[in-house]
Amino acid sequence: MTDIIDLDYDRQHVWHPYTSMSEPLPCYPVASASGVRLKLENGRELIDGMSSWWACIHGYNVKALNQAAHQQLQQMSHVMFGGLTHKPAVDLSRRLVDITPQGLDKVFLSDSGSVAVEVALKMAIQYWQSQGKDKKHFVSLRRGYHGDTFGAMSVCDPDGGMHSLYEGFLAKQYFVTEPQLAFDQPWQAQDIAPLEELLEQHHQHIAALILEPIVQGAGGMRFYHPEYLRQAKQLCERFDVLLIADEIATGFGRTGKMFACEHANIVPDILCLGKGLTGGYMSLAATLCSDKVAQGISQGSAGVLMHGPTFMGNPLACAVAVASIDLLLASPWQQRVENIAHQLQLGLAPIGQLEQVKETRLLGAIGVVECHEAVDMQQIQAFFVEHGVWIRPFGKLVYLMPAYVMNDADIATLCAVIYAALNTPK
Ligand SMILES: *Cc1c(COP(=O)(O)O)cnc(C)c1O
Repeated sequence: MTDIIDLDYDRQHVWHPYTSMSEPLPCYPVASASGVRLKLENGRELIDGMSSWWACIHGYNVKALNQAAHQQLQQMSHVMFGGLTHKPAVDLSRRLVDITPQGLDKVFLSDSGSVAVEVALKMAIQYWQSQGKDKKHFVSLRRGYHGDTFGAMSVCDPDGGMHSLYEGFLAKQYFVTEPQLAFDQPWQAQDIAPLEELLEQHHQHIAALILEPIVQGAGGMRFYHPEYLRQAKQLCERFDVLLIADEIATGFGRTGKMFACEHANIVPDILCLGKGLTGGYMSLAATLCSDKVAQGISQGSAGVLMHGPTFMGNPLACAVAVASIDLLLASPWQQRVENIAHQLQLGLAPIGQLEQVKETRLLGAIGVVECHEAVDMQQIQAFFVEHGVWIRPFGKLVYLMPAYVMNDADIATLCAVIYAALNTPK
């Protein structure tokens, strides 16, 4: 074995996300990462505009997180969570209860975002079962994304989630037209009408509404109106439907609030967290719920929540998550996110003038360029790498969600390279 990454072996044997095994697009070998920079094996450094899919909110190779991991390694990397408990899990749960919207008091720790969503769906079904109600379906928003396991997939956008592929196996859910009004447009009551109609008609069968608050991420990077979220919560109460907020992407400050639900001042019944939870150090997720939901489940016929992953409450991951939250809370994160928003606004403005570009938009530390047509992935990826940045578009969308510690010059460079990439005759 040498230190050289065997790209040929990678091509022949290693699956990458949403990728063909017979004709995979090229992958770039990363040797290390520090701060907001990825270092490729050939020594080239790339400014990272992606935070590794929302996760690395503090950047890479973060001293406080490294320390937390090292310290926890000396104690124990893992012990089972059945019948045992430990400080990292208790400390983390206490922090999550403290910083999430008030009323979310019970914490279920799991391995990944998709699993956190599965747990949320199970919680909702078991809750209604305990109430003697036959409510086993979910309603979700078109353009929504909630993960890749089967329960989560069933509530993803049917087209974006390629439901036709799994026809016959995938649970059938209700879908409602996604919110049309943008975050800062004047509110119009008709935006919520489709949801109201659907709930009016089908609420007897619906256990919960699941949505990504404010930001529809993987389904289109759309920012919708806080009033939509506020009224969705009211409709859930009126029709006896639980609200599941999937903050796996938006949690931990990304949108300018600690949690996106705060834009509408609502408290969901169930909340899913993941991605940035450990500062991107390892896979960990959490599903929080209200006392009402937890007590219902616990007094139902099963009496227990039927889930218990092997690596539940993994001490190493929990210890890093505790350190990540402490680091975030001790930092001027809100000011940093606001400043990133300002820098993105400056950098995106000229991009919005380009012929290929339909529009640019931003919220907090998320900047989005929507093109008229899908970009040529292989070509644009090579261009970005050649120009010293790491940006991973999908479809028509080129977007940025930098670590909160990124400085103005690096943000300007990211935007300038996007400008250059898209400033070509069609
Ligand atoms: C990424 C994501 C998930 C899935 O999380 P994984 O850790 O990839 O399983 C679920 N919901 C949202 C909103 C996400 O962005």
